[in-house]
Amino acid sequence: MTFPVVGMIGGGQLARMTHEAGIPLGIRFRILSDTPQDSAAQVVGDVTVGDYRDLDTLRAFARGCDVITFDHEHVPAAHLRALEADGVVVRPGPDALRHAQDKGVMRTRLAELGVPCPVNRIVADPADVTRFAGEAGGYPVVLKTVRGGYDGKGVWIARSEADAAEPFKAGVPVLAEEKVDFVRELAANVVRSPHGQAVAYPVVESVQVDGVCDTVIAPAPGLPEELSAKAQQLALTVARELGVVGHLAVELFEVRAADGTPGILVNELAMRPHNSGHWTMDGAATSQFANHLRAVLDLPLGDPRPRARWTVMANVLGGDFPDMYAAYLHCMARDPGLKIHMYGKDVKPGRKVGHVTTYGDDLADVRERARHAADYLRGTIDE
Ligand code: ADP
Repeated sequence: MTFPVVGMIGGGQLARMTHEAGIPLGIRFRILSDTPQDSAAQVVGDVTVGDYRDLDTLRAFARGCDVITFDHEHVPAAHLRALEADGVVVRPGPDALRHAQDKGVMRTRLAELGVPCPVNRIVADPADVTRFAGEAGGYPVVLKTVRGGYDGKGVWIARSEADAAEPFKAGVPVLAEEKVDFVRELAANVVRSPHGQAVAYPVVESVQVDGVCDTVIAPAPGLPEELSAKAQQLALTVARELGVVGHLAVELFEVRAADGTPGILVNELAMRPHNSGHWTMDGAATSQFANHLRAVLDLPLGDPRPRARWTVMANVLGGDFPDMYAAYLHCMARDPGLKIHMYGKDVKPGRKVGHVTTYGDDLADVRERARHAADYLRGTIDE
């Protein structure tokens, strides 16, 4: 094999940043994108525009790829099995990926592995949600469609039975969970290769606003060393037991037991580069994107250690600022250490259009700089 061809399904910003990580390695990169305007389609040289739900399109795309991987979890499992039967190398494979595609499957498997999760079960209708609430300590409860959710879409908080009707309208099974009274949200990011080599990034704190990731702090401030090691170990175990190849993000809730003992519960899994790992592009010796590529190609993995004491990533959401580029002048002049990553997406209110990263020794300063740049680019502050 000369330089291999990696085919990524999806043309979003994750594909764009994975492409970027492959350039210095000379890896040839091909994407299957919904439209020519998608974030990655604007910059990748080898773009197929087509529908990932169509098996013939997937087959034609996979021809000539040494490995297929993903920027999202939505490709039907049956199609991936068909590709594997054709001899296509799919990483992560469908048996692993189903745990990131279906929250019900994920919860069942994690329970078998003894991984701590919120109290949960599949519910049949609003009356059943009330029965579940009785089992789980009462309303409010969290309802989730098992498939198709992202950025908080597909997640509802039901405070009463009258509130519980909406999720059932999608015609997809609904998972009920106790509403966890968490201290904060964390993420444990690991990467695993087919050889079974694995690396763990520092556990991060992820701050969500309106169901969307807003800020990520690496490492999670004040996280006790034992809990951090436990979270990393848990993520490595999940990656191994589920046969994950590539990047795995384990989204976690940090909780306190009645006696004050800290603990963690798993919220969900993502088997691809993840927003909670964007900080690694500037803040770690090897980024999540570079390590995802190495893993799917079964190359030795790169050093996951941080480059600075603190790294903060803040997402840039679309706002009212008429010209984000004009905002660069102020942001760059104010903070020469600022790293800006824009995704080439149309600016729509609330949409993730980029992120910024800062790093250094003083957490308060690093946080303030990232927050300022993200807010200024969005246009919510003007100085
Ligand atoms: P998505 O698939 O949209 O990312 P998640 O399952 O991660 O959905 O839920 C989105 C957000 O909703 C979480 O980041 C968390 O803030 C909140 N959430 C989800 N499940 C629970 C729960 N069981 N208890 C409390 N909050 C929850």
